[in-house]
Parts: sequence; C-alpha cells; structure tokens
Amino acid sequence: MSPAEPATLQMSAPDINDDDIARVVEVLRSGRLSIGPCVDKFEAMVAEYVGARHGVAVANGTAGLHLCMRLAGVEADSEVVTSPFSFVASSNCILYERGKPIFVDIDEETFNIDPEQAAAAVGSRTRALLPIHVFGRPAAMAELSAVAAKHSLVVVEDACEALGAEYRGRKVGPLGKAGVFAFYPNKQITTGEGAVVVTDDDRWARQLRSLRNHGRGEMGGWLDHERLGFNYRLDEMSAALGVSQMSRIDALLGLRDAVAARYHERLRHVDGVRTLAPARDTTRMSWFVYIIRFDDDLPRDEIAQRLAAMGIPTRNYFPPIHLQSFYRQQYGYRAGQFPVAERVSSSTLALPFHARLGESEIERVCAGLAEAIDAVARRRSGR
Ligand SMILES: *Cc1c(COP(=O)(O)O)cnc(C)c1O
Repeated sequence: MSPAEPATLQMSAPDINDDDIARVVEVLRSGRLSIGPCVDKFEAMVAEYVGARHGVAVANGTAGLHLCMRLAGVEADSEVVTSPFSFVASSNCILYERGKPIFVDIDEETFNIDPEQAAAAVGSRTRALLPIHVFGRPAAMAELSAVAAKHSLVVVEDACEALGAEYRGRKVGPLGKAGVFAFYPNKQITTGEGAVVVTDDDRWARQLRSLRNHGRGEMGGWLDHERLGFNYRLDEMSAALGVSQMSRIDALLGLRDAVAARYHERLRHVDGVRTLAPARDTTRMSWFVYIIRFDDDLPRDEIAQRLAAMGIPTRNYFPPIHLQSFYRQQYGYRAGQFPVAERVSSSTLALPFHARLGESEIERVCAGLAEAIDAVARRRSGR
C-alpha cells in the first residue's frame, strides 16, 4: 500500500474504554468466571433500563430467540408470523423447534412487518408473532398486539437491534410477552457475545432461567434436570463488560445519534440518496446501523464496489431471509414473493457506523459516495 492511500475504514467498532477493561480483569482475578454476581447485575440493569420486571441473560441473541420460541409453544408444524427483512437468526429460531416461519411483507416506510398482512397470515396453527425492530425502529406494536389478543398468540419482539428504541414513548422489549436484546460487537452495547431476554411474566422468567441452564429445576438441586434444557448461559467476563457498558448507555446512544445526525446533514445534499428517519410511532430511534436508500435508477452494487475501491466498506443489510440459499433450497422460496422487502433490500446500503466515527471519517464516506455516484453518471453518459 502506498503511503498516500488512506486506510480502510471500519464498518463498525465496539466502544471499549479503560473502565470496561478494568471490570473484565477484575472478574478474571476473582476466579469466578461463570454463574456469579455480574450476570445478576447485568440482567437487572437491562431490565430496569427498558422497564421490564425480569431480565435473563443468555449466550447470544439467537439463543434468546430460540428459548422464546420454545416457551411460546412452537413445535412441529406450528406457524410463526414474521418478516423476511431481517438477520437470518430471527427465522432460524423458529426452525430449531421445527416450526414454520410464515413470512409477510414489510411496510415500505418503516421496513418492519406490515401489521395488516400479518393479521391476514394468521391461521389455526399460528402460535406467535415475531416482529423485528429493524435498524432500531420499532415495529407497529399496537396493531400487532391487537392481532395477537384476537387470536391468543404470543408476541416475541426481536429487539436485538433496538436497545433504547421507543415506541409511542415506551421502550421496546417488554411490549410483547418477551423481547430479546443482543450484544454482538456491532450492536448499541456489547458483551462480545451475549443477550438479555426481558419479560414481565414471572413464569416465563423462571422457565427461561431453567432452560438456559440445562433445564435445571428452579428450586431443586444442581443435578436435578426437570426439562430438556440448553447451556445458553452468559459468562461473567461478558456480563462484567455488559455492566460497564450499560452504566454509560445514554452516552453511547448519544454518540450514535450524533454520528447519524452528521451523516444526515452531509447527505442531504447528495442527489439520489435518501436517509432514514424515525418512522411513524417511533418516539426514539436507537441507531443500529446507518442505512441509505438509493433512488431506483442508481446501481447500488456498482456504487458499493466503487466505495470499496476507495477503502470505504459498506454492507447490504439485509438480503431477505427467504432468498438465502438455505431457505430457497429447503423451502422453495423464490424472488418476487415479498416485493417490498426485496425492493428495499436491493436499494439500501449500510455505511460505516459506530459511536466513535469521527467527523473527517464521515466526510470521507460522504465525499466518496458523491464521487461514486458521479462516476456512475459519467459511465452512463460515456464521458
Ligand atoms: C444481531 C441480531 C440477532 C442476534 O444475533 P446473535 O449474533 O445471535 O447475538 C437477532 N436478530 C437480529 C435482527 C439481529 O440483528
């Protein structure tokens, strides 16, 4: 690499400070590396922050969603109504219990599951609704809750991208039966791997604690296994990092808000690019990734390639789940079945985004984007 060539930017980065490091080291020195006080504390902090009665920490978001599907009573041939515009885990968790994801298309404004189509998809085998608060914008919880009440369905929120997001003034997570927050390093806070399931339901909380811990009895002895469980526990080092991160959650979300605001300001003047704004009923958006949407005539993939050549990474969040090769091969899905999700997916692009992305880096991304769009225009006009 020549010295003049700028380094490749990071797509995402966790925000780790000296306190975070000290807390993890403290756990290592204590010798108590699993089932200890940090997990309890972390669960309590997340639950309190989102206004839930209980928080149950688990190994990752996928594990949390899986346990929720089990508690929702999903079994062979059960149906769960969900969105194809998500990370694959929100559908895989249904398959783990041999249930069937029933995909319905998304709302073009919010990118979240369309509640009317969700209502129409409910049948006699439907057990649950699984909305995803995509990119930190809440799904239409009031409408979905009404559908669930009418048909006695469980609502599980995939809030893995939405810690701190508010729907009509209330934090997401405990708005359904349970909600799952994930803490992979690109999320709003991180524990490395890890997640917390929140719920107001005492019975669910007890069963989640048992299921994550090999199905151990809630009261009985250590080796009394009452049900088929899993080892989905979160370790103490991860939980300690979570405690430290949660103690500055407002600051972390504030930094992300500021980066998003800078992008907004700068991209307002770039032709052919639309930015995401808080949608209907979103009283607070919690920025997970920074997504732009291109006008229909702009070639998203070519622009992404041109940016990559400038050392600016981008991601196609998300390729719809029904078009993932496993889903196509196993279940026969094909392009055209969920046109809004497919259209949104093929016209959006995630730009580098994290709490510490500096002004000059944002400037570099935006200038690169304008240059890439210009290059497309020049190629087309043969100049
Ligand atoms: C991150 C994420 C998950 C959980 O991911 P893990 O890597 O298992 O923690 C689930 N659903 C969505 C929509 C996500 O973005």
